[in-house]
Amino acid sequence: MRIGQGVDFHRLIPGEGITVGGVEIPCEFGVEAHSDGDVLIHALCDALLGAAALGDLGGHFPDSDERYRDVASTRLLNEVLRALQNAGTWKPVNVDSTVVLERPKLAEHIPAMRAHLAEALGVGLDSVSVKATRTEGLGALGRSEGIGAFCSVLIERG
Ligand code: MG
Repeated sequence: MRIGQGVDFHRLIPGEGITVGGVEIPCEFGVEAHSDGDVLIHALCDALLGAAALGDLGGHFPDSDERYRDVASTRLLNEVLRALQNAGTWKPVNVDSTVVLERPKLAEHIPAMRAHLAEALGVGLDSVSVKATRTEGLGALGRSEGIGAFCSVLIERG
C-alpha cells in the first residue's frame, strides 16, 4: 500500500456557480481556472499521483495545453487513474478530504460529491470522505477570495 496527499487552491471571481467534487453548486462565485477549477478533484488527483510517485497534475496536464481548456476535472481524474493502473496496477482504497470555503455552505452537497467520487474511483461510498470547513473569516479564503482543498488517499496494487 502507498499513501499520498494533495492540496489545491483556486481564486474565486464573481459568477454563477462553482464545481466541487464534480457537483455544480449555484452561488455568487465562479472559479478562475484553466479547467473547470474543481479544487477537490485536483487535490485528489495530486494525492493519487503523489501516492504512486508519478509527479503532479500540472506536469500531466499543463495550463499551456489547449486540450485541457475548460475540461471537466472528472476527465482528468479518469486519466490519472489510468496512469496509476499503467504504472503499477495501482488502484484507490480510500480517500479523506477537506474543502475550505467560507460560503456557501457545502454540507447539503457533500452526499452528491461522495457519490460522484466513489463512482469515478470505483470504490464504495464508505471509502470516500468529504468534509468542509471555513477559516472563520481569516485570510484570503475567509474573505471569499478563494477556495481550497486537501486530500489524502491510500492506494494498493490490484
Ligand atoms: Mg487546480
